[in-house]
Amino acid sequence: MKRAYVNPDLCIGCGLCVSTVPEVFRINADGISEAYAETPEDMHDKVEEAVNSCPVSAISIIDENVQASKD
Ligand code: SF4
Repeated sequence: MKRAYVNPDLCIGCGLCVSTVPEVFRINADGISEAYAETPEDMHDKVEEAVNSCPVSAISIIDENVQASKD
């Protein structure tokens, strides 16, 4: 399962990713974006689009399967 991650030190809260994929991103109480949900299978392209559109490159995608195998 893939999961998006927003680096809170980089995000400027422009809201672009939230408008692109509201199923995955939301603006939190600090006014910056957070990925609050796993990326559904049919949303991968949209999340890629959000990653590529972020003006400060704050979004990365973590493959939880790969992470688990490193433990
Ligand atoms: S597009 Fe980037 S800078 Fe804008 S809210 Fe999303 S993570 Fe933050």
